[in-house]
Amino acid sequence: MKSHVKAVVIGGGVVGCSVLYHLAKAGWTDIMLIERSELTSGSSWHAAGGFHTLNGDPNVAKLQAYTVQLYKEIEELSGQSCSLHLTGGVMMADTPERMDFLRLAHAKGRYLGMDTELITPSEAKAMFPLMDEKNFVGAMWDPVEGHLDPSGTTIAYSKAAKKLGAEIVLRNRVVDLTQQPDGTWNVVTEQGTVHAEHVVNCGGLWAREIGRMVGIELPVLAMEHMYLLTEPMPEVEEFNKSTGREMIGVLDFKGEIYTRQERNGILLGTYEKACKPWSPVNTPWDFGHELLQPDIDRIAPSLEIGFKHFPGIEKAGIKQIINGPFTFALDGNPLVGPVQGLTNFWCACAVMAGFSQGGGVGLALSNWMVHGDPGFDVWGMDVARFGEWATLRYTNAKVRENYSRRFSIRFPNEELPAARPAQTTPLYDTMLANNAVMGDSWGLETPLWFAPKGTEPKDIVSFHRSNDFGPIGEEVRATREKVGVTEIANFAKYEVSGSGAEDFLNRLMTNRMPKTGRIVLTPMVNEFGKLIGDFTIAKTGEDRFMIWGSSAAQKYHMRWFEKHLPKDRSVRIHRFDQTLVGLSIAGPKSRDLLQKLVDVDVSTKAFRFMDFREMAVGGAPCMVNRITYTGDLGYEIWMAPAYQRLVYKAIKEAGEEFGIVDFGMRALLSMRLEKNFPTWFRELRPIYGPFEGSMDRFIKLEKNDFIGREASAKEHTEGPKLRRVSFIVDAIDADVMGDEPIWAKVSKDFGTVEKPHGYGAPRFDEAGKEVRGSKAAEGASAVRGIVDGEWRVVGWVTSGGYAHYVQKSMAQGYVPAALAEDESAGLFEIEILGHRRPARINIEPPFDPSGEKMRT
Ligand SMILES: Cc1cc2nc3c(=O)[nH]c(=O)nc-3n(C[C@H](O)[C@H](O)[C@H](O)COP(=O)(O)OP(=O)(O)OC[C@H]3O[C@@H](n4cnc5c(N)ncnc54)[C@H](O)[C@@H]3O)c2cc1C
Repeated sequence: MKSHVKAVVIGGGVVGCSVLYHLAKAGWTDIMLIERSELTSGSSWHAAGGFHTLNGDPNVAKLQAYTVQLYKEIEELSGQSCSLHLTGGVMMADTPERMDFLRLAHAKGRYLGMDTELITPSEAKAMFPLMDEKNFVGAMWDPVEGHLDPSGTTIAYSKAAKKLGAEIVLRNRVVDLTQQPDGTWNVVTEQGTVHAEHVVNCGGLWAREIGRMVGIELPVLAMEHMYLLTEPMPEVEEFNKSTGREMIGVLDFKGEIYTRQERNGILLGTYEKACKPWSPVNTPWDFGHELLQPDIDRIAPSLEIGFKHFPGIEKAGIKQIINGPFTFALDGNPLVGPVQGLTNFWCACAVMAGFSQGGGVGLALSNWMVHGDPGFDVWGMDVARFGEWATLRYTNAKVRENYSRRFSIRFPNEELPAARPAQTTPLYDTMLANNAVMGDSWGLETPLWFAPKGTEPKDIVSFHRSNDFGPIGEEVRATREKVGVTEIANFAKYEVSGSGAEDFLNRLMTNRMPKTGRIVLTPMVNEFGKLIGDFTIAKTGEDRFMIWGSSAAQKYHMRWFEKHLPKDRSVRIHRFDQTLVGLSIAGPKSRDLLQKLVDVDVSTKAFRFMDFREMAVGGAPCMVNRITYTGDLGYEIWMAPAYQRLVYKAIKEAGEEFGIVDFGMRALLSMRLEKNFPTWFRELRPIYGPFEGSMDRFIKLEKNDFIGREASAKEHTEGPKLRRVSFIVDAIDADVMGDEPIWAKVSKDFGTVEKPHGYGAPRFDEAGKEVRGSKAAEGASAVRGIVDGEWRVVGWVTSGGYAHYVQKSMAQGYVPAALAEDESAGLFEIEILGHRRPARINIEPPFDPSGEKMRT
C-alpha cells in the first residue's frame, strides 16, 4: 500500500469504483480505493440491478443517460461483462391523474431527447403478458431501461480503473481521518496511514459514519428493501420462445411495485408504505455480505395489488425473498460534491440507484475534483442542498416519507408534511391564526397563501388551477392597488465586511458594487461563465455589505465564498440564516404606510428606489431596502427575530387605513411573473450563461477582472445561443409548472443550438448493437435550425403560472436566441399536460413595463 497518493476513495461499492474509474480517466492515476472488506460488500451486491434514465430532475436524468451509455465502454476496457439486458420498460397509470403525470414526463422527455411513448394498456400487455390490462388507463414506454449484473458491473469499473493505473486495497478499514494544517488528509487505516490531498466518501451504508470522522452529520439513512424472485414460469419461457425477446420491466405506481424478468422467472420489488429504516443511528462495522430477515407482512398490501394487477405472477412459486439495506438522502437523490466548511473532503453517497446514477456521479465528481467544476448542473444531487436543519431525526422522518412516496405523484402545489414544522419565525402562530397555508422553504415554515376565513387552510393538490387560485388573486389585487405585507425570512442573508470586502465582491460579482446606502442587483458566474448566483447587495457602511440571495443556495454559496476568501483575512463573511428575519411591504400605499412607522423622511427624494437605510420601524431597529420582488413600489424590512412581532403588528395597525392585506409566497411569485423577473434555480442555473439568462444589464464586462469575465465576454462577443424569454400562454385551466417543451413552427435556419440538459439517449438496433451518431441522437442533444416550417420542440419552460393582476397565464423559458425577439402570434406552442397551447413571446413585462411604479 502506498503511503502518499493524490486521492483516497473510501468504499468499493459501485459508486466508489465508478469514482475511481472516472478520476483515473481524467488523468489522476495516483489514486487509491480502500475497501473495508471485498468489493461490493455494502448494498451493491444484492441490488436488483435495474436501470433507467427517467428522473424528476432533467439534469439528473442526463447523468443517468450517461451512466447507461457508459456500460459498453467499461466492458470493453475491463474485459468484464456487465450482463446488460436493455429490455425497455413501461410505467403503468391506473388513474387519470397518473396519466397526467405520465404526459408531463413524456413531454419533458421531448426536449431531453428521450424516446418515450404513450401507449395503451393492451400495447403494454403485449410486451408483458402477465398483467391484467383492465386495471390500467394508459402507460408510458421507455426504451432505455433494463437490468444488469450488479457485481459484474462494479468489478468492471474497478478493473477499468486499475488498467488506467489506480490502486485498490481490500480488507482494510479506514478508521479515522485527520486533516493537516495544509488541508491534506491523513487517512488512518487498519494497515497504516495514507497521506492524501483529497478524500472521497463513497462509504454507502457507512457514509454517515465516515462523515462523523470529520465532524459532519450527513443527511443519509439506510432503508430495508425487499424484492422476491419466482420459480421459473412457463409463461415467461413461452413468451421468450415465441417472440425471441425478453419480457420488459414494468413499474406499477398503484401497487408500488417494479417487476421484470429474471432468468426464466420474475423479479418483483416493492416500495411499501410501511417502510423500515435500518440501523437508524449507527451502522455496525461488522455487517458483511449479509441479508436481512424478510418480512412478507410488511409488503403484503403491495403484493395484494400486485397479484391483482399481474395475476400471472400470483400463480408462480416464490423461490427467494431478498431483503437488503441501501441508503437515501431526504429527496432520494445522491449527495455529491465538496462539503462546505471542509477542505478537499468530497462526497459521493446516498446513491439510491447506483446502477442508473453511479456513472454520472463518478463523472460529475471527477470533473469537480480535477477541473474545479462538475461540468453539469448537479444541483439536484449537490451535498450542499440541505441545511443544518437536516439532523439525524429530521433525516429519518423525511427519508421514510420519501421512500413510502417513491411511486406517489407529487403535485406542483403539494407540500409534504414529515418533520414539520422544523424552523419557525416568531410570526408562525400569527400566520396560522391568519389562516395561512404554510410551506417548507429550506426547512423554514413560510406562508404560501391565506385561505378565506372560515375555510380550511389546505391545498387541494392538483395539476390544474386549484383552491388557492381565487385567494391568491385577491392578495395580488389588494397589494397592487393598495398595500400588502409578506414574510421574507426565507431569503438568504449574509454580511461581508473587512478592508478587502469591496475588492472581494467585485472579484466575485458581475455588477459594480454600490455606493454606501445604495443597492445593486448582480449575478455571479463561475470561471466558465455560467450563472452560479443572483444577489441583491447593499453597501451598508465603510467596508460593510449586506447580501440577499436564494435561501436554498446558502451552503452552495458559502462554499463558493469561502473558496475565494483572500488568505490575508481582510474579509469576513457572516451567514445570518434565521438570526435575521424580514417583512416586505409592497403596493402604491406602502410609502405612506412606512412613513407612519418611521421618524425619518422616506419620500421619493429622501429614500430613492434602490436605497438602503438603517432606521427604526415601529420602534424596532431595522435595515430597510427600497426594493421589492413584486416589482411595485415597496420595501424589504430586516430585523432581529425578537423584533419581528413588534414590526408586523405596527405594520398591520398602521396599514389598516390603507386596506392592508397579508400575501404569501405564491402571490409574490405571481407578481414577479408579470414583471418578467427570473428566479434562482429555475430560470437562472449553472447551465446558462448570463447573456443567455437575459441578465445583460447586470454584467459589467469593463469594470474589473471578475471571475468568469473572460468566458462572459466571449459569450457576449459571439452572442448567446439561447435566450431566456417570457411568454403569455393561452392556457385553459392549468398553467405551466416548469420543464414543459416549447414548440415552434420555424421557417428560419438558426444553425445548431446545444441543449444544456438534453442528451442523446443511446439507441440500439435490432441486434442490440448501439447506434451512434444517428440523426435522431444528434437531435436529442441539440436543437437544429430548421427551414421546413414544421412544428418542432425548440426550447423548454423553466417556470410560470398565472399572473393574477394582468390576468394572463405566463411562462418563462429558454429558446434559441434567433427566435427570442419574435413576438408574433402563431409561432410558439407550449405543451401543458399533453395539450399544446398557443404561446406568444412578451418582451416587455405586462405589468408596469417602464418600471415607473417601483421608481416613483
Ligand atoms: C434489495 C436492493 C435492491 C436494489 N435494487 C437496485 C436496482 O435495481 N437498481 C439500482 O440502481 N440500485 C438498486 N439498489 C441500490 C444499490 O444497491 C445502491 O444504489 C448501490 O449499491 C450504492 O452503492 P455505493 O457504492 O454507494 O454503496 P455500497 O454498495 O454500500 O458500498 C460502500 C462500500 O464502502 C465500504 N466502506 C464503508 N466504510 C468503509 C471504511 N470505513 N473503510 C473502507 N471501506 C468502507 C463498504 O464495505 C462498501 O463496500 C438496490 C439495493 C437493495 C438493497
